[in-house]
Amino acid sequence: MQQEKIPTIIIVGAGLGGLSLYHALIKNKDKKEFNVKIFERESSPTDRWQGYHIGLTNYGTQSLLNCIPSSIASNLPKAMPSPIPGVETHGINITDQVGNVLLAPPVKPYKDVYELAKISRGLSTIVTYRDRLRDVLLEGVPVQWNKKCVKYVETQEGVWVFFEDGSQEFCNILVGADGINSPKLKDLQRISFFGNFEQHNFFNFSEK
Ligand SMILES: Cc1cc2nc3c(=O)[nH]c(=O)nc-3n(C[C@H](O)[C@H](O)[C@H](O)COP(=O)(O)OP(=O)(O)OC[C@H]3O[C@@H](n4cnc5c(N)ncnc54)[C@H](O)[C@@H]3O)c2cc1C
Repeated sequence: MQQEKIPTIIIVGAGLGGLSLYHALIKNKDKKEFNVKIFERESSPTDRWQGYHIGLTNYGTQSLLNCIPSSIASNLPKAMPSPIPGVETHGINITDQVGNVLLAPPVKPYKDVYELAKISRGLSTIVTYRDRLRDVLLEGVPVQWNKKCVKYVETQEGVWVFFEDGSQEFCNILVGADGINSPKLKDLQRISFFGNFEQHNFFNFSEK
């Protein structure tokens, strides 16, 4: 009997989107198995400042928890500040230049990220440190660093992916998780990370 060949997926970009997709593919291996490779242009996890915060809504959090294994989920609180009770809350406030609150949209209260994920109506947000969230998602992911993708070529069999260092890799499916502004792979099927998307629409796919 001929054995079915396991298809290879290459993810370009180890940001929040690429890492979440990696975990989702590995977590769902029992449904469909892929060899997954992930390449990042940065030289290490600390190569570049990752920015301030990202707000995860209840819908985004549900989707994120669906993507990642429980071992990673249990580390999520490390990426989230603990507000001082009665003084601070998670959410978005608009203040004036000296910190007076002008607008504080009401949020449904929740104890932790798991409780937040259970809120199925309305909108609540948990503030998350972007760099720590990425560190949490990096756990156990064999990212190949210093691999800037410069070009790809589609063939009948699959896709050849070319890197700045002169190396190349073959895959059956290439996913651009290289951020919304990357010009290099703009014709590619793309994913991006949106913490505020509706349930099950965690990734933003754009057409080729
Ligand atoms: C100030 C600010 C606040 C934001 N707040 C929110 C928020 O609250 N909620 C929300 O949902 N979104 C927010 N966003 C949008 C947010 O940036 C995206 O949701 C998120 O960062 C996208 O993740 P990503 O993995 O798709 O892209 P990125 O985080 O940009 O990751 C892309 C990765 O691909 C790598 N890469 C790029 N090109 C190549 C290449 N050619 N070869 C190899 N690797 C490559 C990059 O180095 C990077 O590591 C905010 C954005 C900004 C700037």
